Amino acid sequence: MFAVTQGVLVDPVRPSAPEIIHDKLRLRVLPATAPIATWAGLGTGGICDGCDGRVHGKDLEHEILLPDGAVLRFHARCALVWEALRQGFGL
Ligand SMILES: [Zn+2]
Repeated sequence: MFAVTQGVLVDPVRPSAPEIIHDKLRLRVLPATAPIATWAGLGTGGICDGCDGRVHGKDLEHEILLPDGAVLRFHARCALVWEALRQGFGL
């Protein structure tokens, strides 16, 4: 089921990656702490901590090391969204 909003086709069931990441930050499912290191490479088939989609081998993946030793895995685009949004929830 699709809804057309201002000429743009929108799937009302599936939220966009930025919406998911924003909700995860709001609910503290994702941390808002500044990373201490970031690595980029090709995906290894893991699940993105941002959008919950799979990071396929053809996708660019970012691994983000947090001060507590936790590592987040994101699609490159989801890492950018998280980095931009987390500052609004900042510590
Ligand atoms: Zn993602």
